[in-house]
Amino acid sequence: MKEATSLALTCLGWSAMTNVLYDGVFAPHADSDKIFLFTPAGKISYAAFSHTTNCLANCLVNNGLKPGDRVAVQADKSVTQLALYAATIKAGGVYLPLNTGYTPHELDYFIGDAKPAIVVVAERVRAAIAPLVTGIGASLLTLNADETGSLTQQANNDSPDFTAIARSSEDLGAILYTSGTTGRSKGAKLCHRNLLSNAKILAESWQFTSDDVLLHMLPIYHTHGLFVASNLLCMVGGSMIFLPKFSSENALAWLPKATSMMGVPTFYTRLLDTPEFTRETANHIRLFISGSAPMLAETHMQFEERTGKIILERYGMTETNMSISNPYEGARIAGTVGKPLPGVEIRIGDAKTGAPVKSGEIGIIEQRGDNVFLGYWQMPEKTAEAFRDDGFFITGDMAHQNKDGYITIVGREKDLIISGGLNVYPKEIEDLIDDMDGVLESAVIGVSHRDFGEAVVAVVVPTDGTLDASTISASLAGRIAKFKQPKAIILTDALPRNTMGKVQKSVLRNTHAELFA
Ligand code: AMP
Repeated sequence: MKEATSLALTCLGWSAMTNVLYDGVFAPHADSDKIFLFTPAGKISYAAFSHTTNCLANCLVNNGLKPGDRVAVQADKSVTQLALYAATIKAGGVYLPLNTGYTPHELDYFIGDAKPAIVVVAERVRAAIAPLVTGIGASLLTLNADETGSLTQQANNDSPDFTAIARSSEDLGAILYTSGTTGRSKGAKLCHRNLLSNAKILAESWQFTSDDVLLHMLPIYHTHGLFVASNLLCMVGGSMIFLPKFSSENALAWLPKATSMMGVPTFYTRLLDTPEFTRETANHIRLFISGSAPMLAETHMQFEERTGKIILERYGMTETNMSISNPYEGARIAGTVGKPLPGVEIRIGDAKTGAPVKSGEIGIIEQRGDNVFLGYWQMPEKTAEAFRDDGFFITGDMAHQNKDGYITIVGREKDLIISGGLNVYPKEIEDLIDDMDGVLESAVIGVSHRDFGEAVVAVVVPTDGTLDASTISASLAGRIAKFKQPKAIILTDALPRNTMGKVQKSVLRNTHAELFA
């Protein structure tokens, strides 16, 4: 399968002398006057986007970027930021977007680990990270939500001509950090082949064309908003209504002008909570897509009842891009994530050996294909642990597949929490709480929440009666991003443990299951 796909891509014109991702995604429509982005501030044609991309590419090179260098970016969503991604690829660099929720303290780790040549942050963050950035000899530029800052200032004076630097299908295009259960975040290395092949497969599978107008309300530091949405629409020559973030008001105003929408389940539950969201509002949309977190079957059904449309749910992860999807034509089955996408080999394997389990039995999803990343940045041991000898990547997601090929995710092998579509790893929060005065131990779990999918809940055992929940909450507030901060902190006398002394998180989850009901 892998060989066949690679061969097909070679036939499509991939060669070592081209910039595979730039040529496949950004170049085809670069000269077009067609509108690529509709924003609240105005319209941006493909040609204007390409002009900005070239100025930014020259700016990156003038700031020392060489092929293979990383460009780390933590900035509020903007057209310039999207063009900065395109510019990094065109200049042969490796794009490294960072969640805007990360505190300067958290940024230290990513910058120290990735050793970027250029770091771009909002002005408000500059002073806090300047010593570290200059310490590694990197250039520091600023980009604010309103597109001001030293990056645009410099780029405005740079030439709008730039010839793409050659990059092969195996060269890195991006590194996206995914948090690790052991505390350290891992940088997933994504090559040009990974990203371009996935855009092609998704465009075909979901029938995207240049007639599409995608309502884009996702962040662009994550695979969903950056690659799934933006690569795909740009590649087919479609348009995007590019908004800073999701709100029901935004969705209601723009849905009648769009043909498609991509969202995390929270977007859809919030829309359903809005009485003005009606069959008429959704009427113009040919395809609603959901992913990044499980969607309740109940939400699927309510959505169909309200709009007459069936949400297409798909599954993917940072390391694998999109790999399983409900069909465009054919039954979209609520509660399942569909079938393997073309070119993606999926097996549901035994957790220890990887040997395929019997049809219908639960195992771990493993996958192989052009979509699967190259490994973790400077973590050869973690990479080796994540792959089987035959090249299959072990996702850590547990699932079963029915006789028709539909896959249902039943949970995560480890205790990852997904709140509002963003991953939260309990260990990171437990470590911080356990270090606090007056805390004996803690367990952080995900509890079902209609709005966020899951809410972070901390169960804490104090050493004596002096500690209260608000002290813990205040202490966490400045140290971790808001989406990781517990929505409830419960004080208890002891954590439930099994005979081996392990904390039984499933017992805690059951006990607190109704917390947000
Ligand atoms: P990320 O790397 O942030 O994209 O997170 C990937 C994880 O999100 C996967 O490993 C799954 O656990 C989860 N995920 C993504 N899509 C779905 C879905 N449709 N249903 C259930 N879980 C999902």
